Amino acid sequence: MRSSILIIYTGGTIGMKTDAETGALVPFDFSGIYEEFPSLKRLNVDIEVYTMDPVIDSSNVSPANWLTLARLIRDNYARYDGFVVLHGTDTMSYTASAISFLLENLSKPVVFTGSQIPIGVLRTDGRENLITAIEIAGARIDGRPEVPEVSLYFQNRLFRANRTTKGSAEALNAFRSYNYPPLAEVGVNIAYNLPAVLQPADTSPELRIATRLADGIAIVKLFPGLGEEILRAMLSAPGLRAVVLETYGAGNAPTSEWFLRVLREAIDRGVILLNVTQCRGGGVSMEIYETGLRLQKIGVLSGYDMTTEAAVTKLMYVLGLGLDETRTRELLRRPLRGEFTL
Ligand code: ASP
Repeated sequence: MRSSILIIYTGGTIGMKTDAETGALVPFDFSGIYEEFPSLKRLNVDIEVYTMDPVIDSSNVSPANWLTLARLIRDNYARYDGFVVLHGTDTMSYTASAISFLLENLSKPVVFTGSQIPIGVLRTDGRENLITAIEIAGARIDGRPEVPEVSLYFQNRLFRANRTTKGSAEALNAFRSYNYPPLAEVGVNIAYNLPAVLQPADTSPELRIATRLADGIAIVKLFPGLGEEILRAMLSAPGLRAVVLETYGAGNAPTSEWFLRVLREAIDRGVILLNVTQCRGGGVSMEIYETGLRLQKIGVLSGYDMTTEAAVTKLMYVLGLGLDETRTRELLRRPLRGEFTL
């Protein structure tokens, strides 16, 4: 059975080609994808392309774009077996994490990819990324999609999207997933790591999307020398609702009285503090050291081994649901889309 795939082009380097006459980079028209890559016809998939209007450099992406993308996937959900989202690499992990939260009860593949070198440049990495992402989005096992979650494919590796981070501005293997194994490794064959793939609930409820993402989120990264007045000013910003606190090591922070007082004042005003580590690998366990335990005692929540990208977008999603404080904190304490390991 042939799979039908919708490619959604949002912008970014992948969508550029060199103009044969002038040598300048010009947009690549993905609707001509079969003419450009005739070999695609050999894949067992039917492809349609939707180009966002306008296409953007991903540095300009906003939560409003994420809601539009989620709506687009929902509106086309019944017509396609899978989706490939082409996105600029700079903020791809943020967008893909946000989409993983916005799509509730997902049971079809949504594969993000992009490239470091434009698709129309001879040495591009975009061609392989695109073709393999399409193949993965259409892959089935016993008639069911092989990877029915939001994933990110880049240079021979398929990752759970909300575990990724852009790790290099130069290397072609630009993305990393420090705390979760690849969902697939691509060599001569595509080797899926099926036990690592998130499976939809047996009851297969309908896809739903969240329609609001909260604002009022900030990231505060600790460093030795961060002063009381600056920290207080950051945590007293008007409209602030939640902070991703990037701490040291296994979730540690200074134990000085002023530091804990400033955090406690924010928590007393109803600001949620979510602790993630600045380290690239590993996670927060606040009970190991006194320096982490103090945070736990004043009500800072653990982000476990979540990326900053997942923490920010999860806060936007959960606070956007408009639930009471107990329920909000309860959703933040457990993984909703495999975004952390307890
Ligand atoms: N600035 C580009 C973007 O993120 C870079 C890329 O696509 O690789 O849109």
